[in-house]
Amino acid sequence: MTTPDIASTDSMAFSALRDPGAPTSEEVLPEVVRVTRDLIRFDTSNHGDGRARGEGPVAEYIAAYLRDRGLEPVIVAPDPGEGPVRPSVFARWGGDRPDLPPILVHGHMDVVPARPEEWSVDPFAGEIRDGMLWGRGALDMKDMLGMMLASVDAMVTSGRRPRRDVILGFLADEEAGGARGAEWIAREHPELVADATVALSEVGGYTVTIGGRRAWLLQTGEKGHAWVRLTARGSSGHASAVRPDNAVTAIARAVAGIGAIDWPVELTETTRALLDGIRSLAGLPEDAAPERVLAEAGPAEPFLAATLRSTTTPTVIDAGFMQNVVPATAEARIDVRPLPGADEKVLDRLREAAGDDVTVEVLAEGHGYESPFSGTFVDAVRATIAELDPEAVVLPYLLNAGTDNVALRPLGLAGYGFVPMRVPDGFDLPGGYHAVDERVPLDTLAFGRRTLTALLERY
Ligand SMILES: [Zn+2]
Repeated sequence: MTTPDIASTDSMAFSALRDPGAPTSEEVLPEVVRVTRDLIRFDTSNHGDGRARGEGPVAEYIAAYLRDRGLEPVIVAPDPGEGPVRPSVFARWGGDRPDLPPILVHGHMDVVPARPEEWSVDPFAGEIRDGMLWGRGALDMKDMLGMMLASVDAMVTSGRRPRRDVILGFLADEEAGGARGAEWIAREHPELVADATVALSEVGGYTVTIGGRRAWLLQTGEKGHAWVRLTARGSSGHASAVRPDNAVTAIARAVAGIGAIDWPVELTETTRALLDGIRSLAGLPEDAAPERVLAEAGPAEPFLAATLRSTTTPTVIDAGFMQNVVPATAEARIDVRPLPGADEKVLDRLREAAGDDVTVEVLAEGHGYESPFSGTFVDAVRATIAELDPEAVVLPYLLNAGTDNVALRPLGLAGYGFVPMRVPDGFDLPGGYHAVDERVPLDTLAFGRRTLTALLERY
């Protein structure tokens, strides 16, 4: 299953790139680096609230890339109205065992915006510097799109096929919640993913070092989310008058009440398995507290810590417009992240803390989920890692945020996050998502491509 031909090309590229005196030769760049760089050069910034550059040109690039390698991609898009076209690309890649249910491997083409003045490089130039590819999307998630395309290239060129059919999906609008991407596809084009049973995408798959051992974090679940608006109403008018029903006071009281909720640690099947795995790698006693255990996970710790409990975080207060005017209404927004299955309980507790003076509306929500850390797909991930990185282990984890898998899951897909990223020591990969100077080490990208290819050949 390994691909020594391509592996040796990759290492040539890296020695050339790491040597500061050596020119970055186009010929020795691995295909995955070349294609990920091309993808970064399409500015697909998504500003939210329907404001976006759109995925049109990058979708055309991806479709042409797949067509050139014998696949038959389709492009689908909701009616754009006044805005830019928001296409998604799908292609079915035939495997050796068409009798097995296919796997959906998908990623989003949009990226969060970048402010060039804050960056060391042009965020959309796809610059290669210090052995890394820099740019918005280098980790989230044009890296994965590059690995998917370069896997097709590597296998088609060498006459190999995935074991089962692979449905490749390149989606629009994830960073704004997927209303024009995954949600729209789940509603209008479920046939595109109809018979798949596993959906593989972001955010897991990166490695952490625990007790001197490398652990690959396979994301097997996600927390849910709810965007909540609080509204307080009162009598408005001159601020010099006595007014007990002040909307600003009411909204402040509600926000303070919600901010003071002390959510308890609640372990799920996934977090329990993760904690057990870390305890045994780090040699910690069985009764070591969850927070203490997660401290062993290095740069991943802040993300993992948020999966121990539900959260209700106030993010916006919008009240008043003039010093001497009492406004009639005041608003606040709360970012709610319930543990899988806890949605109702968390919203009930939030309403209770908000009190009777405000109305609580859920503007949008997605339910969290957990997929099993067992079965043929998980076995294939483990076997692939055992082959390519024999000393390492695979641990499950829950994502503290949401991905397109939340929208696709009702179609009968078990969601997993595995963008294979073998992270060099000292490189804070999870800290790079959505960050200034987002970048990916070239050898991490190339090893990831080989891992994804091997996984698709095995599963
Ligand atoms: Zn992403």
